[in-house]
Amino acid sequence: TQYVYRFGGGVSDGGKGDKNLLGGKGANLAEMASIGLPVPPGFTIGTPMCAVYYDEGGAFPDSLKAEVANGIAHIEAVTGKRFGDAADPLLVSVRSGARASMPGMMDTVLNLGLNDQTVVGLATTSGDERFAWDSYRRFIQMYSDVVLELDHGAFEEALEIAKEDKGYFLDTDMTATDWKALVEKYKALVVEQWDKPFPQDVHDQLWGAVGAVFGSWQSERAKVYRRLNDIPSEWGTAVNVQAMVFGNMGDTSATGVAFTRDPSKGDNAYYGEFLINAQGEDVVAGIRTPQYLTLAAREAANAKPLSMEEALPEVYRELAGVFDTLEKHYRDMQDIEFTVERGKLWMLQTRSGKRTAKAALKIAVDMAEEGLITREEAIARVEPQALDQLLHPTLDPKAARDVLTRGLPASPGAASGKVVFDADTAEKRAAAGDAVILVRTETSPEDIHGMHAARGILTARGGMTSHAAVVARGMGRPCVSGAGSLSIDAKAKVMRCAGREVNEGDVITIDGASGEVMIGEVPTVQPELAGDFGTLMEWADGVRRLKVRANAETPLDAKTAREFGAEGIGLCRTEHMFFDAARITAVRQMILAEDEKGRRAALDKLLPEQRSDFVEIFEVMAGLPVTIRLLDPPLHEFLPHEEAEFAEVAAAAGVEVDYLKRRAAELHEFNPMLGHRGCRLGVTYPEIYEMQARAIFEAAVSLADAPIPEVMIPLVATKRELDLMKAVVDKAAEAVFAETGKRVDYLVGTMIELPRAALRAGEIAEVGEFFSFGTNDLTQTALGVSRDDAARFLQTYVEQGIYAKDPFVSLDVEGVGELIEIAAERGRKTRPDIKLGICGEHGGDPASIAFCEKVGLDYVSASPYRVPIARLAAAQAAL
Ligand code: ADP
Ligand code: MG
Ligand code: MG
Repeated sequence: TQYVYRFGGGVSDGGKGDKNLLGGKGANLAEMASIGLPVPPGFTIGTPMCAVYYDEGGAFPDSLKAEVANGIAHIEAVTGKRFGDAADPLLVSVRSGARASMPGMMDTVLNLGLNDQTVVGLATTSGDERFAWDSYRRFIQMYSDVVLELDHGAFEEALEIAKEDKGYFLDTDMTATDWKALVEKYKALVVEQWDKPFPQDVHDQLWGAVGAVFGSWQSERAKVYRRLNDIPSEWGTAVNVQAMVFGNMGDTSATGVAFTRDPSKGDNAYYGEFLINAQGEDVVAGIRTPQYLTLAAREAANAKPLSMEEALPEVYRELAGVFDTLEKHYRDMQDIEFTVERGKLWMLQTRSGKRTAKAALKIAVDMAEEGLITREEAIARVEPQALDQLLHPTLDPKAARDVLTRGLPASPGAASGKVVFDADTAEKRAAAGDAVILVRTETSPEDIHGMHAARGILTARGGMTSHAAVVARGMGRPCVSGAGSLSIDAKAKVMRCAGREVNEGDVITIDGASGEVMIGEVPTVQPELAGDFGTLMEWADGVRRLKVRANAETPLDAKTAREFGAEGIGLCRTEHMFFDAARITAVRQMILAEDEKGRRAALDKLLPEQRSDFVEIFEVMAGLPVTIRLLDPPLHEFLPHEEAEFAEVAAAAGVEVDYLKRRAAELHEFNPMLGHRGCRLGVTYPEIYEMQARAIFEAAVSLADAPIPEVMIPLVATKRELDLMKAVVDKAAEAVFAETGKRVDYLVGTMIELPRAALRAGEIAEVGEFFSFGTNDLTQTALGVSRDDAARFLQTYVEQGIYAKDPFVSLDVEGVGELIEIAAERGRKTRPDIKLGICGEHGGDPASIAFCEKVGLDYVSASPYRVPIARLAAAQAAL
């Protein structure tokens, strides 16, 4: 097998279609080279080597040696320099690059090939001694960190001390002699920590770095990132070895990162940052605050340092041309890394840029309107889950704000929470239910878990493309970066700004859209659903087949759902209505009653309340179907559990405390999930369902434009149960129709949430006019896993690959899915026009929605805020 693929100098052994083999970075370097863009020559060791490397226990097969030698020869031929040549050395970077981009997660080594001899050669050929020694010290520092895994703090400290001794403020103040002296210190540090001198053989350096990059695939932070982003560990990373180009060769050299459009708002304007006389990592690491790329951006920010457009106008124009070429070629917004070496532009990376949901929407809609992509492509480009960011509240513009300071608007959305100063505390506090804002001087990949746990992220340093900003946008967390006036003391757990102090646990609010940081919690307002969002939703509605309903049980939920485009209610639970403080006493009287007569007396008190619930919901949902599920939970849920409550409840219900306790004990169940609940309540106490049905029909006949009620009987296992319950509902309907002289259309159907019901769907459909797959319970009963107890082992199950994802979040398509398929098929055989829907949590999960489309269900029902996500996912499923 071939492992090594070349690029640059007129050769491209691969291209953008080879991401699986070459990783994203390698594939795109080859592609850029093949379309004639200036790419430093190099080669990629393909991803299959990653698995081989681990199988061999961290060693490489012999055949790779010769292939790598050929790869180096290719670079030497193109550059005319030789690797390890003391007079005119070739230097390379060794870069990771997996199939999916994992920004900053894995390791890169720059300036490899420098040693005590070649550094002298580099000084001569470049005519710049300072540059040569700066590069060498960077190399030792990076190699010691990434490959030798020495304590990098010691190296940073040595640099700080060197600067302090000279009274310097910036790295750029260091002279050639200063760097030379620092190199000696660094070499001594290596001997001290590693017991061996820094490797001088350039081939040893190369293999060390290649091994370290493959090794970084299994680093803790890479694993966490993969877990959060569903990237399989089998994919592996590729390794790219590429000729170095230098952005640190003086004032006509620079390095930068750019997006072809604004990744935060989506505007069609170049967007980026650069640093003069610097190397790549400097921009991302937030060591110096970078300068703007364009004049317009600099002016908008009212910043002083010249933009690239002003400072290096010719290269800037060439770069802008490359942006346009790349965007047309890839037909997507690109995220680009470049370096300018003494006025010559070099492209180091391109990939589809990560973007906020807002930007994703705008870019997709704009590109479709520009004719760059089709409407279908636009629909497919926006990740449904990402809409979540847009569907949540933003800061109320009218609310008072106590602004502490301002940073860069790095990732939009507003978040309030308690301040924490480290990732572990963020994780702990969030697990305990606190909303937290993670505040760091700057973030690094080790902070990922804390960023994930936090509601928002605030940093004192770093630009719009800093680690914090990129990761936050990817995760959909609001982020304000580079709030330079903050002074953060993470050890003492305090930050100071403008004479004020904020301690751990104090509440702040950040606005990732404006960059403002505020003391206290600022109220929020509902999102705006027009504009690009509305346009894309309209396109999505035009292609989807599945209807989208909402799970809603209050008029407010129903209203939200309608605003979000719900086409009906797929699940209106009725038990929550019973918990209302004003009604619970009547509910308890019903439960405590000795006989039917007592129960009916209590139910009579509930009837008008229940009727008014339905009137309100029906008014909101006028003209649309509403599925109402009759009472489902075990009755003891309505009784008190705490000793202290008994006396009060007994008094309110007009019974003795002892009696109440006895009843509560009688109702206790060992496994309530499989106990006296669902239609079992209706079978034993038909008067409960009779009252609910009466409330539904009385509400419906009272309205001019009532929805079509779909009365749903829960937890049916057998046809006979449904026979009995349907008779109760029909009788109540006829009674109401007779009393009022009005009729409405209605359906009676059932939830399919027990495996037996799924299997016997053929005969159940003789009675049931619709099925709604209650996939929460169906998952519990099919897998024999209690959702409330699953937390203890489910994560291990997912890690062990027993279930690919949490089956309560994403439908277990193989098992539960097969039950659904069977039920749908058997149900339709009996009743071809049977209405089929899904109302579990899965109704808002894109992967599960794709399955519902495949099985041909009529609708999915999701929580109100997930309705737009479901609409888009349903459209994507139909494409
Ligand atoms: P990451 O995947 O973390 O972005 P990269 O492999 O892209 O890591 O490298 C990090 C930085 O190093 C890049 O921003 C780039 O500017 C710089 N770099 C990588 N290779 C070279 C090279 N051959 N010449 C100059 N700079 C390089
Ligand atoms: Mg990169
Ligand atoms: Mg259920």
